[in-house]
Amino acid sequence: MPPPVIKASTSALETAGKARSPSAKSQAQQALEKLGLRRDIDLALHLPLRYEDETRVTALADARDGELVQIEAQVTRSEITFRPRRQLRVTVDDGSDTCVLRFINFYPSHQKTLSVGARVRVRGEIRGGSFAGGFGREMVHPGFRPAGGDLPSALTPVYPTVAGLPQAYLRKAVLSGLSRADLAETVPETGFSRKKLSKPLWSLREALQFLHHPTPDAALATLENRSHPAWQRLKAEELLAQQLSQLQARRVRAAMRAPALAGPAMRGTHCTLHEQLLERLPFRLTAAQQRVGIEIDADLKKNIPMHRLLQGDVGSGKTVVAALAAARCMDAGWQCALMAPTEILAEQHFRKLIGWLEPLGIQTAWLTGSQKAKERREALAMIESGAAGLVVGTHAVIQNKVLFKNLALAIIDEQHRFGVAQRLALRSKMTEGGQDPHLLMMTATPIPRTLAMSYYADLDVSTIDELPPGRTPIVTKVVNEARRDEVVERIRGQLNQGRQVYWVCPLIEESEAVDLTNATQTHEALTAALPGTPVGLLHSRMPVAEKRAVMSLFTSGQLGVLVSTTVIEVGVDVPNASLMVIEHAERFGLSQLHQLRGRVGRGAAAAACVLLYSTGDAPRLGETARARLKAMVETQDGFEIARRDLDIRGPGEFLGARQSGAPLLRFADLALDADWLAWARALAPEMLDQHADLAHRHIQRWLGGKAEFLKA
Ligand code: ADP
Ligand code: MG
Repeated sequence: MPPPVIKASTSALETAGKARSPSAKSQAQQALEKLGLRRDIDLALHLPLRYEDETRVTALADARDGELVQIEAQVTRSEITFRPRRQLRVTVDDGSDTCVLRFINFYPSHQKTLSVGARVRVRGEIRGGSFAGGFGREMVHPGFRPAGGDLPSALTPVYPTVAGLPQAYLRKAVLSGLSRADLAETVPETGFSRKKLSKPLWSLREALQFLHHPTPDAALATLENRSHPAWQRLKAEELLAQQLSQLQARRVRAAMRAPALAGPAMRGTHCTLHEQLLERLPFRLTAAQQRVGIEIDADLKKNIPMHRLLQGDVGSGKTVVAALAAARCMDAGWQCALMAPTEILAEQHFRKLIGWLEPLGIQTAWLTGSQKAKERREALAMIESGAAGLVVGTHAVIQNKVLFKNLALAIIDEQHRFGVAQRLALRSKMTEGGQDPHLLMMTATPIPRTLAMSYYADLDVSTIDELPPGRTPIVTKVVNEARRDEVVERIRGQLNQGRQVYWVCPLIEESEAVDLTNATQTHEALTAALPGTPVGLLHSRMPVAEKRAVMSLFTSGQLGVLVSTTVIEVGVDVPNASLMVIEHAERFGLSQLHQLRGRVGRGAAAAACVLLYSTGDAPRLGETARARLKAMVETQDGFEIARRDLDIRGPGEFLGARQSGAPLLRFADLALDADWLAWARALAPEMLDQHADLAHRHIQRWLGGKAEFLKA
């Protein structure tokens, strides 16, 4: 097995001299594509994360502990040692002092370049003193290469990259992209005059050239915190592109047409579906449900396609709001589709919806990837003929073979689980000439307001901000994994009261096999510890039919405990479940933990959530894991959770995780660059009206093909 990739290879000093095989080259090319670096301009706009100062060589005697330095020295000793573990230890001497280079992962090529007598240029963090356990001063996994050649005269940029794309290759590609790219100005001359600037802003060309090769006298701090004028220019450009494309998408949508779903198609009917459904519900809608219902109704009555996000915490009752919107749609004589990200969730919706709608004479079609050919053919026929007023399913709903008679409303549950392309596909299902369906997207992971304003300017948002009455708060406890036995005791307590328990095991992405063993072992251990209690097991690799069988045993109360991987994360609704145990809670993201916890506390009984954590070999949990678990204990409010998640992760990652494909801000920061955001927002409409050509070029330059995604 090859050793894992060495981190220090991001250093400019990696040994990149060797000729690469053609396959390595095409691998790098693929990696470029993966980063979205296709056009010259994409490469030119791929900016360094940071810089390394390789313009100087420091004498070892002058290097301070913890300092990142470049030295030039001769190898005086090279050996492989086995204590405490196998490692390559190379001693170098630069005449002023000596230092040990230590490699835990190494290739034969390392040994060759670092053989005794060789002169090398080494770059890394210097650590320890003569007191440090007898090792002396050392660098762990430094970058290195044979000495010789001139020192660079500019700072060396370090670019964001992915596996399989070495810095040296990326750097060359970026510089050649920069030299070819069209960098003509797209911001109209009057554009910057409205902003009071102490000095004229840099041109795009100057800014890019500088950021890719800053001179050594540049203040690294202003480059790193991105306050440098060159960065200011790029942030302004980026925010403008984002505001332009959002505004354009909004205008495009305002020009689209959708069926206006007003009033019943058949006059004289005694009572609309909508009214009947409301009457038959076993509960009263909360004030928040009523309010969002009115907002949705108002959109559906218009002949402009609705583009609305319905956000509401887990358990806030979004499904019934969706059902009422579907009823409105069918009242007007049109079809409605509901798509959910997993089969289990889609099936729950299907069950619930037929329970509500079938007695009212509505036929509902069910579509999923796993159904039998005959069943599917029947469903497709019902959809095409219009016999089915409502279609519920998974991704199967957007396949080509599915032809609607007259789709007018598409509802997407847990929208962030779907890619943008899938949302576009659902919208293109509309067959009536030139019209688009209304789109209602639902999510339990709310978007904080600042993000909603800038990323989703083209989206209307409805919020359910209260839970149905009678929910009891969930008590959350963080428990060290060493105290598992106490947790099992707690489970017994719940089972004795006739309650049910979820036990969730983490999904370890690198290895589905490990994931499986985890869940299986826990399942065995719990079965042994709880004699007489049926314990179910649910994981992502089970065949769908089996998953469904286990799930329905749990729903009907025949299983006391359900051990599962995160397949139950979304939407599952079993009110009798009162305790949720999450194993290795430290590995989960905050919003995922919140979603999982939302599976309990749905009934009237007191509910609890136990977050079991393990620190592995470390003495304590890492800082962000601690912050996540703390947030879970301190709040149960999904909006507060989202805010904290944003704090912990930053907007890029926060959104990246929730919406694949959306163009994110790479350079600007919504909070720090609020004045540039205001500037861009003011300039965008004027630019679209008066400089349409420049606006178009600006959007193309920054977003290229991604601009299309904004319409989804
Ligand atoms: P989510 O918003 O997480 O999708 P659901 O739609 O699954 O939530 O609703 C959670 C539970 O609350 C369901 O059992 C649902 O029937 C119930 N529910 C929804 N609205 C109300 C209400 N107004 N009063 C009481 N229970 C409700
Ligand atoms: Mg739901």
